[in-house]
Amino acid sequence: MAKINPNYDKLTTGYLFPEIARRARAFMDAHPGVTLMRLGIGNTTEPLTPTIIHALHHAVDRLACVETYTGYGDEQGDRDLREALAARYARLGVSLEPEEFFISDGAKPDSANIQSIFGIDNVVAVQDPAYPVYVDSNVIAGRTGQSVNGQYAGIVYMPCTEANGFFPDIPREKVDLIYICSPNNPTGAVATHEQLKKFVDYARAHKAVIIFDSAYAPFIRDPHLPRSIYEVEGARECAIEISSFSKEAGFTGVRLGWTIVPKTAVCEDAAPGKLHALWLRRQTTMFNGASNIAQRGGLAVLSPQGEEECRGLVNYYMNNARIIREGLSQKGLTVFGGVNAPYVWVRTPHGMSSWEFFDKLLHEAHVVSTPGSGFGPSGEGYLRLSAFGHKEDIERAVKSIQDNLNV
Ligand SMILES: *Cc1c(COP(=O)(O)O)cnc(C)c1O
Repeated sequence: MAKINPNYDKLTTGYLFPEIARRARAFMDAHPGVTLMRLGIGNTTEPLTPTIIHALHHAVDRLACVETYTGYGDEQGDRDLREALAARYARLGVSLEPEEFFISDGAKPDSANIQSIFGIDNVVAVQDPAYPVYVDSNVIAGRTGQSVNGQYAGIVYMPCTEANGFFPDIPREKVDLIYICSPNNPTGAVATHEQLKKFVDYARAHKAVIIFDSAYAPFIRDPHLPRSIYEVEGARECAIEISSFSKEAGFTGVRLGWTIVPKTAVCEDAAPGKLHALWLRRQTTMFNGASNIAQRGGLAVLSPQGEEECRGLVNYYMNNARIIREGLSQKGLTVFGGVNAPYVWVRTPHGMSSWEFFDKLLHEAHVVSTPGSGFGPSGEGYLRLSAFGHKEDIERAVKSIQDNLNV
């Protein structure tokens, strides 16, 4: 008799985006002819740039000839792509070997899968609010109990609030796996060197491991803020970094990311090299490598011309973030983020709940947002607005908020 994995029935966050869609649909049904403006979704909208399109076309053409055709590639990813990534980190002053990079089909699958190289008894700590996959993958693996009042038993939630500038203090209890996302989705906050150093020191003292998601690093404008956790001394002994071409280059549909497991990384029962060997084992056993076409595209992203074009893409979205920030501030709303990240975190006015303010924005301004409470208990009282969209659509939504929202 087959039995399901009952941990799937513990999951609660799958409810967020379907519920947003349900409320938007109900509003449209009741108000035919109204056009909704969407500031809710973290999905890229602008086309790939010319240098990358050219490389992708070329990669397809190579598959058409017997002389240049390739099948399965190097399991860790194309050597030249890993060398180009190592060179990019070297420009940040970070020294990593190409062997320490693992190319994948994206940061979300790697974020979900990385927990599988760690034992079931590890205590997991997450920023609250957070990108849902960190918690959900650990729920499915069986590291938690049931969810009660938005919190799973067994997970340590590290509140990110106005009081701490949306970056948590180190946990008071002993935790083993610590997920940090900087720049952060959903708050738009970026950790400083000093803030990350505290976590690195904690991890080294407790033989804990930090899983660092840097998918939004290219959106950092402030030259003093770290783009990689390895800019912090000691991180090579305790941190795994996961990142992506999705947001920087518009590869959300192309699919390409990477994970760095330094050979120097250790934990309580793993000497140097062991964590690296386990992730290699996991990927070679369960994953057959990223698309060779996508990897050619990724190499083009890392070329000087590709990097310049992608800076243009990032600047485009960051200008949208500025429009949202300024427009809502002028309206008297309190906003955070949006300066070094493509998300604006809006405090709900008059102590409204996230869902109450979501409904108000929907009904009065016809704007769809994302309720902060969907990202964790400390997201209650906030909304996330996304800068991913066409500029004209962003401007129309912000103008509608300014003209039509009663605050
Ligand atoms: C969008 C996003 C990613 C990127 O995931 P991919 O699977 O590479 O598309 C990773 N982390 C966070 C926090 C994100 O918001």
